[in-house]
Amino acid sequence: MKTEELEQAYPIIDEMALGHEVTWINPMLAPVAEAMQGISVSEKDIEDAGARLERFAPFIQAAFPETKETKGLIESPLKEISSMKERMNREGCGIQGRLMLKMDSHLAVAGSVKARGGIYEILKHAEDLALSAGMLKEGEDYGKFAGEEMRKFLSGYSIHVGSTGNLGLSIGIISAALGFQVNVHMSADAKQWKKDLLRSKGVQVIEYAGDYGKAVKEGRALAEKDPKSYFVDDENSKDLFLGYAVAAGRLKRQLQDQGIQVDREHPLVVYIPCGVGGAPGGITFGLKQEFGDHVYVFFEEPVQACCMALGMITGLHDGICVQDIGLTGKTEADGLAVGRPSKFVGKTISRMLAGEFTVCDEKLYHYMKELMDTEGIFIEPSSCAAFEGPARLFRDRESREFLEQSGLAEHLQDSTHIVWATGGSLVPEDMRTEYRKKAVLS
Ligand SMILES: *Cc1c(COP(=O)(O)O)cnc(C)c1O
Repeated sequence: MKTEELEQAYPIIDEMALGHEVTWINPMLAPVAEAMQGISVSEKDIEDAGARLERFAPFIQAAFPETKETKGLIESPLKEISSMKERMNREGCGIQGRLMLKMDSHLAVAGSVKARGGIYEILKHAEDLALSAGMLKEGEDYGKFAGEEMRKFLSGYSIHVGSTGNLGLSIGIISAALGFQVNVHMSADAKQWKKDLLRSKGVQVIEYAGDYGKAVKEGRALAEKDPKSYFVDDENSKDLFLGYAVAAGRLKRQLQDQGIQVDREHPLVVYIPCGVGGAPGGITFGLKQEFGDHVYVFFEEPVQACCMALGMITGLHDGICVQDIGLTGKTEADGLAVGRPSKFVGKTISRMLAGEFTVCDEKLYHYMKELMDTEGIFIEPSSCAAFEGPARLFRDRESREFLEQSGLAEHLQDSTHIVWATGGSLVPEDMRTEYRKKAVLS
């Protein structure tokens, strides 16, 4: 379809093409029993991924002493942020219920949500290699991966990944810790400090003038030439997706520990920033498995890089990119600077996602500063996109209609809203200062 035809078929795309913020409610959202049909991942796959992460816990604890307290599990706090809620409501957001922050911004090892999927995929690959070479037997202590013998074995293999920044950080750090040769192919908009940090850990960083898509393509081509090489495919990887999905069961326990109920009368609404879709998609799949129809998930994307919304609205998924409707794909939110969405993710969650809010870059710095001022928590601009969800859910016409029609409106006083903070703790002090300056100016 030509752009004009698309815009005629979907008036919302007209707005998106102008770079305006839009609120999209997914007309395909279905009851969970229906939404889970015809997809290629299952609850059992998530359990399998969770069990694998537990097997690797002794290695994680040995390689990353900061995980000692959690016995080698990489998990983040869930924190109520009532001062932030108050501040947002003074600005007219009208948030009802409890506002919470899921602090993947502070995940150990990689300081972003990518510590879930990225680390999981590399651990699985290392396990596969070790098992098939007879270097590891089922039931053995995975602390073995911290030993010299295993490192030497894995150093004969290489990893390639294309990244806008954080995925490269997580894959680079974990691969280097296991002994792999690792190559991170980075787009031009990736931040310099991320490249520097990776190089300091012995990671080969290759830079590309073009966007993220180009970095991925080159990385894939190089990996294909070498049989001892493995390519982490951010656009299609089921393993990444499942690593992210494990978050949901752990979140459920955290909610229980804090005495927070989730059921029909106490709905849960979750807001997650979206790039190519793997992280928010995997988390959504996990949440739907855990909470069924009582959880509603909204994604947030920059107005210039709203690829998942575009792919879902048109049903074209990776058959369309933001440049096709005249957008640039460029945004200050480097973690979300993706022009073409994952088809695997789009199709898998097409009946699970409640909707999307797209957001202008300027607001990201505003939320960043407000969270710092009210709660003393720093998160990076990309992850601030999630705040646009609760900021608009109660105000926009489209989402207000959705609240009424879904029956959510009756239970808002008893609802819980979780903003998924996806990155930040590794951002160096001078970058934080620079961001703060931008926040004051915007
Ligand atoms: C990667 C990333 C996301 C989005 O994840 P995708 O899998 O690309 O959709 C969100 N926030 C931050 C900070 C990220 O690094």
